[in-house]
Amino acid sequence: MEGRQVTLRQAQGSDTDGLVAIVTGGASGIGAAIAHRLHDDGVTVAVLDRDTSNADERFAAFTADVSDRASVDAAVAAVAERFGRIDIVVNNAGIGAQGDIAANDDDEWARVLSINVTGIARVTSAALPWLRKSPSAAVCNTASIASTTGLPQRALYSASKGAVAALTRAMAADHLREGIRVNAVNPGTADTPWVGRLLDSAADPAAERAALEARQPHGRLVSPDEVAAAVAYLVSPSAGSTTGTFIEVDGGMAQLRLRPE
Ligand code: NAD
Repeated sequence: MEGRQVTLRQAQGSDTDGLVAIVTGGASGIGAAIAHRLHDDGVTVAVLDRDTSNADERFAAFTADVSDRASVDAAVAAVAERFGRIDIVVNNAGIGAQGDIAANDDDEWARVLSINVTGIARVTSAALPWLRKSPSAAVCNTASIASTTGLPQRALYSASKGAVAALTRAMAADHLREGIRVNAVNPGTADTPWVGRLLDSAADPAAERAALEARQPHGRLVSPDEVAAAVAYLVSPSAGSTTGTFIEVDGGMAQLRLRPE
């Protein structure tokens, strides 16, 4: 960077109207909220998910598994062929894993890292030629509070999200001069089907939910719409000078050093 001017492209206008976005994991939870929010902001949304059966019919849905390069390459090519451009990639698809470092075998470590981390590299690299042509290129990765705090009994998941944080910074640095911004969001525990499934497996789901809410700094779960609003800002031209950074949507848990009990 020494002595050389770095210029992030300044998009014409201040909104996202007319841009095309890929949202991975966009058929459920946080990804579905992001798809809706971007759609409301005038973005053409392509949902890329391994299970598109529940995807909102207003969005073009492309079935792909982010852990499988061939299916990712085919889906990204299909998005580009259909819409003629890709301006935004939201890498949101992810899965959980429970327990300490001994709880998961090597196959499970490889599977989670392949989806949560390498999936970001697969999808974004397939879209790179299109992002390079965009007047307003942006990538946003869904990391987690686990990326900074390290959650108890979530060793593999925390490792994967810590890697997402480092990858976000590396991608931001690598593609800065190409005018591609890369940021991330760190949600706290959010009210999604994923968390619903965990609560449903408890003996008393209602009591478990109340206890989970009480453990959050602001006394409730994070709304997927709140995460979507942060993503919508980060990928918009309004954030044209913002790259390599994170928005925490966690009721203050990470910044206030409050840890789940
Ligand atoms: P969810 O299970 O409700 O939705 C995840 C979506 O991703 C699903 O539609 C699923 O089909 C898709 N998906 C999963 N694996 C995939 C793969 N290999 N290829 C393509 N699509 C795949 O989950 P959610 O709670 O909305 O979580 C979304 C993201 O947010 C994840 O990255 C998760 O780690 C992160 N996150 C969630 C929370 C939370 O409390 N819910 C908190 C912090 C971060």
